[in-house]
Amino acid sequence: MQMHPSQARGSSATATSSAVNPRIPGIRSLHSPGPTRVPDAVMHAMQRPMMDLMDPRVGALIAACEDGMRTLLGSAEAEVLFYAANGHGMWECVTANLCAPGRSLLIAGGGHFSDSWAMQTEILGRATGTTVLRTPLAEGHPTDPAAIEQVLRDDKAHRIAAVLAVHTDTASGITSDLAAIRRAIDAAGHPALYVVDLVASLGAAPFEMDALRVDVAMGASQKGLMCPPGLGYVAVNARALAFAEAHAGPRFYWDWVRRASDLQYKKFCGTPPLAHLAGLHAALQLIAEEGLANVHARHARLGGAVHAALARWSEAGALRPYCRVPAARSSSVTAIECISGDKAHDPEALRTVARERFQVAIAGGLGPLAGRVFRIGHLGDMNEATILGALAGVEAAMTVQGIPYGAGGVAAAVASLVEGTGAG
Ligand SMILES: *Cc1c(COP(=O)(O)O)cnc(C)c1O
Repeated sequence: MQMHPSQARGSSATATSSAVNPRIPGIRSLHSPGPTRVPDAVMHAMQRPMMDLMDPRVGALIAACEDGMRTLLGSAEAEVLFYAANGHGMWECVTANLCAPGRSLLIAGGGHFSDSWAMQTEILGRATGTTVLRTPLAEGHPTDPAAIEQVLRDDKAHRIAAVLAVHTDTASGITSDLAAIRRAIDAAGHPALYVVDLVASLGAAPFEMDALRVDVAMGASQKGLMCPPGLGYVAVNARALAFAEAHAGPRFYWDWVRRASDLQYKKFCGTPPLAHLAGLHAALQLIAEEGLANVHARHARLGGAVHAALARWSEAGALRPYCRVPAARSSSVTAIECISGDKAHDPEALRTVARERFQVAIAGGLGPLAGRVFRIGHLGDMNEATILGALAGVEAAMTVQGIPYGAGGVAAAVASLVEGTGAG
């Protein structure tokens, strides 16, 4: 049986034999908020032949990726380092460089992803004598800058080495206000480094590393960067590098100071992930061709269409936006909460019907939101047609599952796209 990889069946855990078609025409529309659709230009770039490591094209490729990332991140000077890793790896990369005996790391409450980052960091913290602090989070709300300011004000001895914040929490579809967090750190007069997780937001929502005085920004390849999973990046400014240099810890592969070298073999702690770098380079070119401001506007417009559809769907009382603060709704992903109380309205069953019958792959709930929400990803290589198709497919699946939804969701999305306001 001939099958394009994008049409291959889901894992046996989710695809029961009765639900699986032997073949589907066209492509399945991928609306998970990561991995996202990979454009053909990126896939083709990754198929280029490998090079020997002394080939000058290797150095040129690495330099082009670093320059492209600096442009995308809005940083003139930051050291950009790449790792063969996913987002979890990059979390460890950050904390392995910032853990220091007697110091603490303040992980701002932001949802499932900051919770996971904190749990991971506590293990490293115990081994290195570093305390992990956290701020509380109100359900359905973005990170609270006032809580961060209070913890920093209380830290008179300046033991807190860094504030770590997640820009877009992919589990809840909530984007936090990075400028407000910067103001909170400044207002407390605290010298802590400012660290931001951009895994789900870079390429979808505006970010300016230097203007925000972010010291460390990290992310991974498979969301707004439109690449396959497996490549992580971190951008580190001089302040953060100096901190790592002054606080040696048990790290080798992750060590920023060791990596910040012009020697390729040191820079990658071994062989660079050449295919991924070629893919990233192609993706950066696609973003540059479209224009970064246009890329952001497109995400706002498409996200706005999903929010418009959800407003209609919610009218029947069985669904609602998980994010309670309209201004904080993400342009990357929308989390939709099932509140009917009817067990038959299980989001996981909805997902299976949407994927297997209507060729729209959406995401489920993570952590405490498992079984409570489903999520529609709208980031990366998307356009009006893919979003309208996804919304129609979700409506079809909700119809099959008997989930009550207000009529006119797709029409509202069309109206929102026609207005082109991008307001959600
Ligand atoms: C997806 C995601 C991660 C984790 O990335 P993996 O590549 O799955 O390890 C971390 N942070 C955020 C905000 C994410 O969206």
